[in-house]
Amino acid sequence: MATVYLGLGTNIGNRKENLTRAIEALSLALGPCTAQSSFIETAPWGFDSDNPFLNCAVAFETELTPLLLLDTTEKVERELGRTTKSSGGVYHDRVIDIDILLYGSAIVETPRLTIPHPLMHLRNFVLEPLAEIAPHTIHPKTGKSIEQLKTELGCSKMVKKD
Ligand code: AMP
Repeated sequence: MATVYLGLGTNIGNRKENLTRAIEALSLALGPCTAQSSFIETAPWGFDSDNPFLNCAVAFETELTPLLLLDTTEKVERELGRTTKSSGGVYHDRVIDIDILLYGSAIVETPRLTIPHPLMHLRNFVLEPLAEIAPHTIHPKTGKSIEQLKTELGCSKMVKKD
């Protein structure tokens, strides 16, 4: 059994409902969500859009392998209406994005999947909600806690929505 942390984001439609539906669908597939951060509003990162994001972080316990977990998160993205993937650092508005942030203390480097998520330590919209539910969890590549990574990155202006 591994504790996995997922980062969720959405910037179109009813964003609160999108996050809630994604967490429900993940719970159906993985079992109960064991921790959930608040929903935090953030500016789009890496691309221009008038639509701000709503982000959160969640935890699950799973026996799925990392790649089967990715199959599951991508299935949930499709169920919620996501049709396009990001590639080559080009991002778009999206109804839901689910990133696998941490899978226990595993380091995974395959063409399809990198864990810890390769950009998580650079993104306030990931570290801010993740620090609410896993402040002392160690990022296995840097050896630093999530709280420490968040402090080092510095805080941008974020608005809690619940
Ligand atoms: P997305 O940002 O959701 O459009 O994902 C783009 C691609 O990133 C996916 O097709 C995955 O194969 C890949 N990917 C690599 N590492 C991860 C990760 N840790 N979590 C989610 N997707 C990942």
